[in-house]
Amino acid sequence: MNKSSKFDVTVPGEKYEVGHLHPLTLVKRKIEEIFQAMGFSVIEGPEIENEWYNFDALNIPKEHPARDLWDTFYLKNGKLLRTHTSPVQIRYMEKHQPPFRIIVPGRIFRHEATDASHETNFYQVEGLMVGKDISAANFKAIIQEFFSRFFGKKVKARLRPSFFPFTEPSFEVDMTCLVCQGKGCSTCLRTGWIELMGAGMVHPNVLKAGGINPKNWQGFAFGIGMDRLAMMKYKINDIRLFYSGDLRFLKQF
Ligand SMILES: [Zn+2]
Repeated sequence: MNKSSKFDVTVPGEKYEVGHLHPLTLVKRKIEEIFQAMGFSVIEGPEIENEWYNFDALNIPKEHPARDLWDTFYLKNGKLLRTHTSPVQIRYMEKHQPPFRIIVPGRIFRHEATDASHETNFYQVEGLMVGKDISAANFKAIIQEFFSRFFGKKVKARLRPSFFPFTEPSFEVDMTCLVCQGKGCSTCLRTGWIELMGAGMVHPNVLKAGGINPKNWQGFAFGIGMDRLAMMKYKINDIRLFYSGDLRFLKQF
């Protein structure tokens, strides 16, 4: 039989591998969906920033010791890789008058050692809500609603007093580590809690830097670690897996 003249329709075909979205993309889309349902707009900003937007306008002057909280990658041209998504708060306020509510998902960069819960680049979602008579109670209600919708169940959260130069008062929001259910594991550094976000009432100096009169308007701001949310949602114990490109890891999503 001449091989080339005969086509065997019973031979199984070659399987094509179908690609899919990265777990961080899935999480980003879920976050956007939840906040959009609560009336927030999704905004983006540049990853290369200058010192004004990344520090000064956020109430972190040059000689202020708080600047050491962010280990920064400086570029040769005097600019820097943004250390948080907060500069977009200022950029947005410059062009918009309150009331408004926005979230800013994006990549940020820190010059620090990596371990199971730290990377040199990761993702954050910034949130900003400014209006009349906005209080910390509004923040608590919104973030509790967000957690419940994101994890599909009631999750325990706690607020701890903290310090950030751009908010006053400031707090840290933790939630039960879902990898170990609060028993303690390497992800939560044996504490049973995962630090998910910093938040607080926007400092009057920050509103002023954005061209908004703090006598007329108040608001809250928060920054959520998107990688940590993803780690909690999918029970991943090492942040570095997201950036490893390891298909054995990625094919699970
Ligand atoms: Zn844990």
